[in-house]
Amino acid sequence: MAEIYLDGRWVGASAGARREIRCPADGSLVAEIDEGGPDDTDLAIASARQAFDDGRWSGVPARERGELLARVADLLVRDRAAIARAESLDTGKRLVESEYDVDDVVGVFRHFAAVAAEDAGRLVDTGRPDVVSRIEHDPVGVCALITPWNYPLLQTAWKVAPALAAGNTFVLKPSELTPHTAILLIRLLAEAGLPGGVANLVLGAGPAVGAPLADDPRVDLVSFTGGLETGKRIMSAASGTVKRIALELGGKNPNIVFADADRETALDMALTAVFLHSGQVCSAGARLVVEESIHDEFVDELVDRARKIRLGGPFDEKAETGPLVSAAHRDKVEAYVADALAEGAVLRCGGARPDDPALADGFYFLPTVLDGCHTGMRAVQTESFGPVLTVETFTGEDEAVAIANDSIYGLAGAVWTQDGGKAERVARRLRMGTVWINDYHPYVPQAEWGGYKQSGIGRELGRAGLEEYRETKHVWHNIRPEPQRWFGG
Ligand code: NAD
Repeated sequence: MAEIYLDGRWVGASAGARREIRCPADGSLVAEIDEGGPDDTDLAIASARQAFDDGRWSGVPARERGELLARVADLLVRDRAAIARAESLDTGKRLVESEYDVDDVVGVFRHFAAVAAEDAGRLVDTGRPDVVSRIEHDPVGVCALITPWNYPLLQTAWKVAPALAAGNTFVLKPSELTPHTAILLIRLLAEAGLPGGVANLVLGAGPAVGAPLADDPRVDLVSFTGGLETGKRIMSAASGTVKRIALELGGKNPNIVFADADRETALDMALTAVFLHSGQVCSAGARLVVEESIHDEFVDELVDRARKIRLGGPFDEKAETGPLVSAAHRDKVEAYVADALAEGAVLRCGGARPDDPALADGFYFLPTVLDGCHTGMRAVQTESFGPVLTVETFTGEDEAVAIANDSIYGLAGAVWTQDGGKAERVARRLRMGTVWINDYHPYVPQAEWGGYKQSGIGRELGRAGLEEYRETKHVWHNIRPEPQRWFGG
């Protein structure tokens, strides 16, 4: 079966290569799929370019584009079970989490369906009765959408839905580890009636298939979610033709707990903040920044609960979280923990693979707590993207803010206190794209998402998430043209 989608047709990889997709929970073979190369990317760009230039999608009224997105949302609801299962097999995440993800994706499509036709532009008062001046929006053009493996369908939806709402065409390049839900989504777009050539899908490794998207002059915009180093490479490649870029990169997110927090909820949510999806969440609360006076009892209890977290595969109903995505990623997390211990972190729990033989074939790593950390340590400054919590302490509001902001990243963070004024003061001073007060992790498609500092450029979701995919045009119409006679003639 062919899995690359070009110009409205499913085709095989031009070089005939295939890739094995294995479930991270037990290493079992999920499927063999097409493995593309630069030639496939070249064809996909040509298809998207042609479809944009002939106006087959940008010429469709915005309201009808929104209606198509709403139909896609309905189809996602219809296929929820099959899509969630595919996501779990690729990522190893619990089925219930994949089901939540599909529900979120439905919400994202409905949001952009609703806003697609809003803000059709505005008239500008020039002060001249002989002129009609207006601002209108155009699609940017051909968009390259490059996505990671941790929330494969969700991250894809955050890009595909606004790109289509705004009238663009695109080439989607999902992570080579987790391609299945992107394939399913493209099928649904076709079923919903999207004209051929508007959506194109290439599969394969980043350097071979993704990199050519970033420097090809036929591409107008690159929207990338993934690691910081890849983001820098893409930014640099995109500069050659001054492409629009949107980057959603990493985070090392502080979860600040004051002594006056609702202790039970703060504890419970500190675990969710960092260990959800085994820490493979860009906004994971991987830094616990706890007030010195409650450090001992808070961390003791947290460690106790972390030890009891049950690991298991997607269909194990007793499991509370799953494996890491690959052996290579687990190697990286292990190296990160070894490095942290070498620079003085204190291992309170985890730090190893589980010894349960039932988990031996999967890429599991125990929930890990590293105490005694401070902002001068690499462990605090770099992402592990695994189930690893570093613990720092502070005394007082100013120090909490200073510690939390001492990072190259600025994606998200949380503050826990029952003092509303303190919560607001701290939230205001945090240099992050999302701040939760007495909560962790929730998001809604109506609100913008993105990072300050090296966590990225631009915003997804909300209204700004649509603006990323639109150009702004000023049309000046002189309705009573006559010579100015600036020059003699
Ligand atoms: P990654 O950067 O390795 O890969 C992301 C995507 O980029 C994949 O599709 C990959 O094939 C592709 N890619 C790799 N090299 C490329 C190149 N040279 N040119 C073009 N494309 C290339 O990241 P990952 O390991 O898949 O994902 C984990 C990272 O993503 C973490 O650092 C995490 O923080 C980040 N992330 C951020 C967010 C966010 O919203 N900010 C969300 C999810 C993940």
